Amino acid sequence: MTNFIHFNVPPCTGKEIGYVKEAIESHKICGDGAFTKKCSAWLEERFHAQKVLLTTSGSTALDMALLLCGIERGDEVILPSYTFSSTANSPILAGANLVFTDIRPDTMNIDETKIEAAITDRTKVIVVVHYAGVACEMDTIMDIAKRHGLLVVEDAAQGVMSTYKGRPLGTIGDFGCYSFHETKNYSMGEGGAVVINDPKYNEKAEILREKGTNRSRFIRGQVDKYTWVEFGDSFLPSELNAAYLWGQLEMADEINEDRLRTWNTYDKGLKPLAEKGLIEVPSVPEGCVHNAHMYYIKLKDIEERTDFISFLKSHDVQSVFHYIPLHSAPAGLRYGRFFGEDVYTTKESERLTRLPMYYGMTDEDLRRVISVIHQYFGETYDG
Ligand SMILES: *Cc1c(COP(=O)(O)O)cnc(C)c1O
Repeated sequence: MTNFIHFNVPPCTGKEIGYVKEAIESHKICGDGAFTKKCSAWLEERFHAQKVLLTTSGSTALDMALLLCGIERGDEVILPSYTFSSTANSPILAGANLVFTDIRPDTMNIDETKIEAAITDRTKVIVVVHYAGVACEMDTIMDIAKRHGLLVVEDAAQGVMSTYKGRPLGTIGDFGCYSFHETKNYSMGEGGAVVINDPKYNEKAEILREKGTNRSRFIRGQVDKYTWVEFGDSFLPSELNAAYLWGQLEMADEINEDRLRTWNTYDKGLKPLAEKGLIEVPSVPEGCVHNAHMYYIKLKDIEERTDFISFLKSHDVQSVFHYIPLHSAPAGLRYGRFFGEDVYTTKESERLTRLPMYYGMTDEDLRRVISVIHQYFGETYDG
């Protein structure tokens, strides 16, 4: 009998329970207490970010970013179709229409060469998604945005601790959004953070996050009463969640190194199958340092993928496919349109499957997954 290998196990370093206990005993469990401050200060320092605010999720970090972009009803937002629904929900909340563009097959990221043609006089924002923690071609994208007067939001939900030409993902565009969901590299159960790269948005962001009040200015002693000044919502997470995240950020390098070791073992172990043309493995462009968020492989087509996933399951290994392109989903049809030709989005999404990847995955389990994959193709693995 072998154990069932799940594709994700929520990260836990062992330090979290002590910090959560500390939060409880401090009798301060609502938002913006000591642990929230520690986490945002850590993120700001580590990523040289001007301002980072913890949020209740990656989705609400995106909501904040898109609401801060000053979108007017009917404005357009360009985004890839190959992404999670949240990337598209936030522009809709802000009143925009969606314009989906195609991805690059090598990274599954937005194809930077297809963006410019999709721009109209209603375009306001480009949302890029750093898939699997591998950066989009940001120099080109920022240059397009600059020339057309557009804002850039980085959906870096999967990209915490990754860099592009030495710059941390999330700090390159106007706004960056991180997720600390339990499936992400660093977790607080449900949670996220928004990175504000231009200080002119700082105060608006604080007001938006604090139910439309200038409470932050009040706490800093800048006004003697706090009041409702703008539209806002509640985007701050509880201290209990922030305390859990602190137990992970303190170990951020250990977690990153552990995941990278797993990623590299997959890559080395599966390369021979790729060289024989049986599968494709991820590619990381020069200048991109990734965080081992995900290890995926691509099969021949959707039929082979379905068969592959059930083969692995019958050998107690969970492998999961990923996004169904948003432009073909019911909400995508209602709120958006696909610009240009869908050359890669559908085709590549149907071939991709994710392998088990989490902090603390044992060598034994890892070798078993690689070996089962070899078995599927009638090959032997002696790694
Ligand atoms: C996980 C994820 C989100 C949403 O984050 P939550 O914290 O689950 O709300 C958004 N975009 C991408 C690309 C993600 O992977």
